[in-house]
Amino acid sequence: MKLRSGDHVLVITGKDAGKESRIARVFPKDNRIIVEGVATAKRHQRPTGELNTGGIIDKDMPIDASNVLIVCKECGPTRIGARIDDDGKKHRVCRKCGNDL
Ligand SMILES: [Zn+2]
Repeated sequence: MKLRSGDHVLVITGKDAGKESRIARVFPKDNRIIVEGVATAKRHQRPTGELNTGGIIDKDMPIDASNVLIVCKECGPTRIGARIDDDGKKHRVCRKCGNDL
């Protein structure tokens, strides 16, 4: 899993295809991610207290990490490449322009 929470991604499949948003959570074990405002499901919630009055809430459901492309600031949707610097540290880079992601 090369994606991290906070990454800007473009959804390429499913009912939200074409949407650009931010990754809210990653589940590396399942290779799934939650993208803000994507794969939103209506959930009925029971009132549990003063702050939670219940009702219908929107909940973003996890989608497969292969359903999105990371968005490079320079060239748009792209694939993630890897660069290893002199210290042996791994960096994620844009495969098109080579910029760090
Ligand atoms: Zn790029």
